[in-house]
Amino acid sequence: MGFATDCIHAGQEPEPVTGAVTYPIFQTSTYVQPRLGEHKGFEYARTKNPTRSVVEANLAALERGKYGFCFASGMSAIDVVFRTLKSGDHVVAGENMYGGSYRLFSKVLEKFGLEFTYVDTSSAEAVRKAIHRKTKVLFLETPTNPMMTLTDLSACSDIAHAKNVLVVVDNTFCSPYGQQPLELGADVVVHSTTKFLNGHSDSVGGAVILNDDELAAQISFLQNAVGAILSPMDSWLILRGIKTLAVRMKQHEANGMAMANYLAHHPKVKKIYYPGLTDHPQHALAKRQMNGFGALISFDLGSYDNAKKFLDRVRLCSLGESLGGVETLISHPESMTHASVPIEERKRLGITPGLVRISVGIEDIEDLIADIENAFDGV
Ligand code: PLP
Repeated sequence: MGFATDCIHAGQEPEPVTGAVTYPIFQTSTYVQPRLGEHKGFEYARTKNPTRSVVEANLAALERGKYGFCFASGMSAIDVVFRTLKSGDHVVAGENMYGGSYRLFSKVLEKFGLEFTYVDTSSAEAVRKAIHRKTKVLFLETPTNPMMTLTDLSACSDIAHAKNVLVVVDNTFCSPYGQQPLELGADVVVHSTTKFLNGHSDSVGGAVILNDDELAAQISFLQNAVGAILSPMDSWLILRGIKTLAVRMKQHEANGMAMANYLAHHPKVKKIYYPGLTDHPQHALAKRQMNGFGALISFDLGSYDNAKKFLDRVRLCSLGESLGGVETLISHPESMTHASVPIEERKRLGITPGLVRISVGIEDIEDLIADIENAFDGV
């Protein structure tokens, strides 16, 4: 089936008792067992919940994977993947990733003996050099947040697989509409479903999708053992959100491109980062690897003062963390999403005091541009 059809139907038979076309929220903690030693596939809701099973099957289909597992947040999904490792194992990760992932690695997982090396994964050669005897995982985000740098997933997967290293891709920025890492050679996809997948800024959740039977059994075990599961209500909200993923993403992308073109020609914008612009250094890779170019744009206004004046004047665009909702969200990475990245590192990566990131929503583009134009008047 096509992607839009899968968004609406994959994993979702009408509910068998009533025929309800929308799969219900099974708000229960346990299930009656007809006889001792016999049950209907559900024993306790941490282990399995029908609403969660449906969204897990749906997400597996959208990422073209065999297994899906849902968690209470994107962070808990990422955390569970790393719990398959043991003390002394080594991970190569992108140097410019979501600040919360860096915080999990550097402040939590290192205490348990995992070792991390951060490299510029846009260079396949840098990835090759960083992998050594103890390396077990290559962790990638593409495009990166907020610098919009791409990683060649096929090339890096080939390098990693030659050394028996598992490739894990955080596909939150693109959603499976914009990129399907498993098809490009990755082994595991993780998501913050909080973003484009749910799409309505009203639920926090995460997912892990993969093909390997043995690793899936480990993730399934950990989902139950650790217990950071997605609730029935959030499972339902995500299912509902995903039904419109394909149409939302088309509009996000059209608005993203129009906004990028507007910003690229604005005299107050010193620099712009968007893979859809032909002068983005990895535009060709974006065309090859992604379906469209997404709705996230970063641009530099030259100073903290300019960024503050601009951000204080936006009205329709909401100043806030997060991304991927139907509404346009605008943020200041240096002081918000990436505040946990050490200042020297931020400087090196280009996360300057003047940098602004916008997650372009699906409002009328004329209204969004009018709001941004008005905010520029104050700079
Ligand atoms: N991965 C990326 C790329 C993110 O942007 C985020 C959150 O902003 C996360 C993971 C963490 O997801 P959550 O906030 O659902 O825990």
